[in-house]
Amino acid sequence: MDVQIEGGELVVPHPSEILTVTRGDLCIRDGTIVRVASEGEVPPDFSPERVDASGCAVMPGLVNAHCHAGMSLLRGYADDLPLMRWLAEEVWPAEAHLTGEHIYWGTALAVLEMLKGGICTYADMYFHVDHIARASRELGMRAVLSLGLIGEAPGAEQDLERSAELVQRWGDDPEDMIQIQLGPHAPYTCSPQYLERVARLGEQLGCGIHIHLAETRDEVQQIEHQYGKTPVEHVCDLGITSVKPFLAAHCVHVDEEDIARLADEGVGVAHCSISNQKLGSGIAPLAEMINAGVCVGFGTDGACSTGRLDIWNEMRSGSLVQKGTRHDAEILPAAQMLHSATRGAARAVGLEDAGQLVPGYRADVTVVSLESAHLTPQHDILSLLAYAAGPGDVRDVYVQGRPVVRQGQLRTVDEGEIISRAAACTENLRQKVCENSD
Ligand SMILES: [Zn+2]
Repeated sequence: MDVQIEGGELVVPHPSEILTVTRGDLCIRDGTIVRVASEGEVPPDFSPERVDASGCAVMPGLVNAHCHAGMSLLRGYADDLPLMRWLAEEVWPAEAHLTGEHIYWGTALAVLEMLKGGICTYADMYFHVDHIARASRELGMRAVLSLGLIGEAPGAEQDLERSAELVQRWGDDPEDMIQIQLGPHAPYTCSPQYLERVARLGEQLGCGIHIHLAETRDEVQQIEHQYGKTPVEHVCDLGITSVKPFLAAHCVHVDEEDIARLADEGVGVAHCSISNQKLGSGIAPLAEMINAGVCVGFGTDGACSTGRLDIWNEMRSGSLVQKGTRHDAEILPAAQMLHSATRGAARAVGLEDAGQLVPGYRADVTVVSLESAHLTPQHDILSLLAYAAGPGDVRDVYVQGRPVVRQGQLRTVDEGEIISRAAACTENLRQKVCENSD
């Protein structure tokens, strides 16, 4: 399938400015970018569908580097609590009642929201992963999925076997629309022995690892008390970061040595600015991590710890909170934030050939209409995208060259059905939780 997106403002890499904008056409064949403005060649038999993108920015698709998509059914449930109380008293008891059907429609709801907001790929950690994979595939989103592993849980052993089965079942997709990683939840819920077993399995299966790391001060204190190390030192010393890609969500409480270690070990970090603020976890040293060469992307975390699955919001929050708290308007400029939201996040989740508009890369592309009041005038399109654009400005989304959103509407699955089925599942879940608490 050939597509030519014509006359848009293309957001492309630049050797010194990180990103720049050039007007031109983007040509796609069979899921791969073949030409960007004057770069690259179209094949002689190229006969594209032509799409007018004048008045639009054409950018690499956004990547959500850390999510729990099925949690969208719990959006607005038990807000305004600190992380451990929120998890132990509210979220985990409710999650105990989630069925595969709940997870399917909860994931579909999240994927609908993300695709319409210009996100082409997400990395997820949850359970009932077959249902998550199915919903992602049916809606047309690229997904890097892991089954959350709690080392102390009664089913911890079977969950390792289930993870291996997931790799076998979903891992041979040549387009990598579904990839499976191993998801040890965190160093405070998995023993060193269990983490080492996860690492061995990762090496054996050739799949990456996705973990929560250094999220709260309580975690740091607990790990220091148990092992005499910071959480970052602890996982690096266990050798598990040699499994690649290694994706660590949060990394809020990291010191200078931790940051150097994350950079040295090639750990990808999912920075979840809004979740960290909403749960009172703290503010990660984002500028230091990026300056030290850590590969950083943005993640929303689950809908109930962030509100909306919106990478525009995460990018803005991530930058502004650093500028404000450091009294420094020059750090983390617009181009850097857009780069982290696209290329940085793609690499963090293990997609080396995604996240930028370059010939040979995957055709994950977001087309943003610049015609609304809040995107006028267009002095600097990168600034507009970083500081003013939002999900409602997304016109078209291509994942692996396939148009999954056109004129702001999902083309693959009926949107109304997703919303009504997700609402019905939420009602069913609420009843189960109530019955159980009586
Ligand atoms: Zn999380």
